[in-house]
Amino acid sequence: MVNLGSDEIIKYPFLDEAGKYLSDKGFSLEDFATNADLKKIVESAFERITTAIDGRIYKSDLTTNNSSTTNEIFSFLIAVILLKLSGMNTLTRRFSLAEARRAEKFLETDLKNQQNTRNAKISLEILQELFSVTIQKEDEYFTIPIADYLKHSVNFHEREWKLINRKILHGKVQLTSHETVRLVRKELDRYIFLKINSSSSPQMIQGFESYVTKLKTLAKKFEVKTVESTEYPPCIKHAIEVLEKGENLSHSGRFLLATFLLNKGQTVEQIAPLFKNAPDYNEKVTRYQLNQLSGTSGTTQYKCPSCEKVKSQNLCFPIPDCDPIINPIQFGRKRI
Ligand code: SF4
Repeated sequence: MVNLGSDEIIKYPFLDEAGKYLSDKGFSLEDFATNADLKKIVESAFERITTAIDGRIYKSDLTTNNSSTTNEIFSFLIAVILLKLSGMNTLTRRFSLAEARRAEKFLETDLKNQQNTRNAKISLEILQELFSVTIQKEDEYFTIPIADYLKHSVNFHEREWKLINRKILHGKVQLTSHETVRLVRKELDRYIFLKINSSSSPQMIQGFESYVTKLKTLAKKFEVKTVESTEYPPCIKHAIEVLEKGENLSHSGRFLLATFLLNKGQTVEQIAPLFKNAPDYNEKVTRYQLNQLSGTSGTTQYKCPSCEKVKSQNLCFPIPDCDPIINPIQFGRKRI
């Protein structure tokens, strides 16, 4: 656990230290619904969520006096409680993203600040703790081992992220402070989302009902009704056929098939048997690779490649129903 002061807990309230702050204060959730001072925090928590829903970043008061620290940290924690009570996943997704953007800004500012080396050190410790990535400060740059760089940039397709376009020194890739934070952007969002999702849901608290009702109403505007056929797109059918015939499916084909099925909600146990007929089948290796792709044994959950990418790998066999989708995952999905 990184040793944080209250100013850092304000910046990164999703870290475990914030929970410790709550238990140290000894408040119960009921106190927030009854105590006049604490009720204001519930208002702030609700505002924190609605700001995120609007796609904006919640502005924090970084003055570390007692009341602003309490308000800042608890508004995040109570927001999580309200989201859990509402059960609206779509709001949690928006909230996680906005909180990740907010934390990203602090991380970048602290990394950039040459005067305050403590803040930069703490930011790097947070990145190490959350994403197991060892980044070091070297002069005005940050450096990351090539293997770590490749692992974290695997889903970046822009030219500037290709290893060949990076400056490398002694086996390490050089990054600016902005790029350092950008490298973990998606993972930060996912980390916050999973943390909220995996926290236990409390019973409804008297005094929170009206906020929860308002959140449920707000979530309705994001509802998109779709019907989805269970039929697989031709590229996936082709990949399955190749495997069923016991022929060799290329690495890209296996990646496509596995990420497609994982993204559709299938489990590693359900997918692994599909590869049994592959000429080079090895159960242990297959499960290891599927666990990597699913994100259960790493920090990244791999996405199904785009149709464009699949096409460039000669694995695309389009039919009229493929129009106008851009990712196989969208095949058969229709808005109603
Ligand atoms: S267009 Fe997309 S969904 Fe259709 S076959 Fe090609 S890759 Fe698959």
